[in-house]
Amino acid sequence: MVEIVIMLLPVAAASGWYVASRHYKSKIKKPSNEYKGYFKGLNYLLNEQHEKAIDVFIDLLEVDDETIETHLALGTLFRQRGEVEKAIRLHQNLIARPQISHETRENILNELGLDYMRAGLLDRAESIFLELEKKSSHQVNAVRQLLSIFQQEKEWLKAIDYATKLESIDLYKQPLLLSHLHCEVALSHISDDDSSIAKSHLRKALKIDPMCVRVNIISAEVAMLKGEHKQALKLLLKIMDQDIRFVPVFIDLILNCFDQLGKPKQKFDFLAELQVDNESTIVISRFIDVLLEQKGAREASVFMHEKLLQHPSKNYLKLYVDVDNESGDMESDFLRGIIKQLESETQSFQCKQCGFTSVDLNWCCPSCKDWGVIEPILV
Ligand SMILES: [Zn+2]
Repeated sequence: MVEIVIMLLPVAAASGWYVASRHYKSKIKKPSNEYKGYFKGLNYLLNEQHEKAIDVFIDLLEVDDETIETHLALGTLFRQRGEVEKAIRLHQNLIARPQISHETRENILNELGLDYMRAGLLDRAESIFLELEKKSSHQVNAVRQLLSIFQQEKEWLKAIDYATKLESIDLYKQPLLLSHLHCEVALSHISDDDSSIAKSHLRKALKIDPMCVRVNIISAEVAMLKGEHKQALKLLLKIMDQDIRFVPVFIDLILNCFDQLGKPKQKFDFLAELQVDNESTIVISRFIDVLLEQKGAREASVFMHEKLLQHPSKNYLKLYVDVDNESGDMESDFLRGIIKQLESETQSFQCKQCGFTSVDLNWCCPSCKDWGVIEPILV
């Protein structure tokens, strides 16, 4: 409410100035209705009846090109405070006034469009910004808002059009956004069983952003569905050069390919090499599994003992206990009890842009809505 009161001061002052100028021009000695209204508004303000004060001052303040900025600022404040209905009402009232200029009407329309966006009334916002897109002074913002609307409506092809349009008028390249939009189109065609269109969009995505991990994941999953595990493995191994931090996230897909291809030695060699410079608990855990499977409990226990000495950590200790238990060590139960008291950590993700964290991998941050900004947190 403090902001509203601060906002009201210029509104009250403008109302006072307007009322006073009208009063002196008319040379009427007795207080006019406007004067009465002004003091009524002040009275509400002093008695902390802010809502009533706002209504009185807004009614008093004539809408013209001089006072419009104050009205618009108040509308913006309502929207920012989440009082969207009030902002919509204010902007709808303003736009209905006949005395406003074309330029002012466009400014109010822009604000009303933003109100509708905030209220989730995307259809109404869309028609406003489609109109404003044709006006050069509002084009960039209108295109930006339409891009956001089409993403929220999952109209991916339209979103691609508007992302491309924004690049051409704003000269601002957004390769992450565009490549993920092409990935979304590809996914919709995969579910429609139309893989040739899907592949064409995946190619475009990779051309726009050669470092897009998601393209190789989607392509590999499609190949796996068709039983083409050799191709899937080739695609998944490319992630190593794109962003190695994503390898632990998709390691089970990679290992599944080795299993399906009947290549246990290559699987062992891949993990043995990967674990050398990788401290991910997931990678170490999978290496322990192949050690147990292919070399036995003794070798796995020796490896984990060494690893724990090199990098003492709660997760490594847990792995060590698990391995040691395989060889029937009495210490294992005791250590396991202690570890249970400690919080176990699972794979989680964080947005490098806004800091949002989650246990699920979102390619588009649910908080800041940017694409390709979520990164795995090392566990
Ligand atoms: Zn974010």
